[in-house]
Amino acid sequence: MIPFNKPFTPPAGEFEAYISDIWARGWFTNNGPLVQELEQKLRAHLGLRNLLLTTNGTVSLQLAIRALDLKGDIITTPFSYVATTSSIVWQGCRPVFADIDPDTFNIDPECIEDRITPATTAILATHVFGNPCDVAAIENIAKRHGLKVIYDAAHCFGTTMRGKSIFGWGDISTTSFHATKLFQTAEGGAVMAHNKALNARLDLMRNFGHVDYGEFRSVGINGKNSELHAAMGLCCLKYADEILATRKQQYNRYLKLLKGLDVRLQKPLPDSEPNGSYFAIAFHSEKDMLLRKKRLEDAGIFPRRYFYPELSSLDYVEKQDTPIARKLARTVLCLPMYHTLTDCEQARIADILLGKRVKAVNGIGESCNV
Ligand SMILES: *Cc1c(COP(=O)(O)O)cnc(C)c1O
Repeated sequence: MIPFNKPFTPPAGEFEAYISDIWARGWFTNNGPLVQELEQKLRAHLGLRNLLLTTNGTVSLQLAIRALDLKGDIITTPFSYVATTSSIVWQGCRPVFADIDPDTFNIDPECIEDRITPATTAILATHVFGNPCDVAAIENIAKRHGLKVIYDAAHCFGTTMRGKSIFGWGDISTTSFHATKLFQTAEGGAVMAHNKALNARLDLMRNFGHVDYGEFRSVGINGKNSELHAAMGLCCLKYADEILATRKQQYNRYLKLLKGLDVRLQKPLPDSEPNGSYFAIAFHSEKDMLLRKKRLEDAGIFPRRYFYPELSSLDYVEKQDTPIARKLARTVLCLPMYHTLTDCEQARIADILLGKRVKAVNGIGESCNV
């Protein structure tokens, strides 16, 4: 069996050593030493001044919307995980969908411009599959119209733009450290604010608005994370460079193996370097996609439809037509991608997609143990 994803699993002994320390201290949460250590190490690793660990990627989005005091309409992408849209609705704002660029799979800046009205207060864009949005164009639009920008960078650990972490763009970038992401803390996430005052506001809101015992400066939520999750993060961070390098190799291997396949692939913008965290292929029709998916499943391989359906068709939003996202959501398939995926497994997946008889390929099929 080849699943879609397997969480990166650091050596258990390394985690247990942290657990012994936590037990000895009896300090499990509330800005403990491991949370502080992980935040510092992540800032250094990513080259960021501001980064706060949070409960998860969804709470990070909610904190970002709240800290920027957004009201009214937020222009967002229909092609993302549901949390991007649900966070907007959860915060009492209205999602307005701008269609995507068929090449990058990300929100199209020209479509953003078309959707701006006096009610618009912000843009919430996702760097889909670790591939950066056109951040320069989005920044330009935001400046001209006085809008805030939030990036849902949940897929982007290790992604860079002009050599710098993509987490540094926007008024706030958010990310997720869910077990299925490239860098994980089991559950977890982070908010990364551009300026110091906003970072301080996020810090306050993440902790109930507490400034001191008995003193509260703003409304807040419990958006903290625990020592146990930080321990997992510290274990995984040691391997982050290795995971990233492997992922990029795996991405390039899929590219090479699937060269003859008549599908569309996501295109990165110049100056950007995606982390290769997902490998998405867009077929010509939904029927074709479902057929290939079935063939893979019959061979014990489980790709995933990401993201389906498009978010502009959700029941709890005002339905809006975003035809490019609708088409992509119906035709795209993400292939298995995780740290321990082998060359042989990738070759087998490619052979099935290419319609080759798997057993004929130098016995590769059998040695894969799938
Ligand atoms: C994973 C993900 C989220 C949610 O993160 P959680 O940590 O699971 O809450 C949000 N947006 C995108 C694009 C994601 O992939």
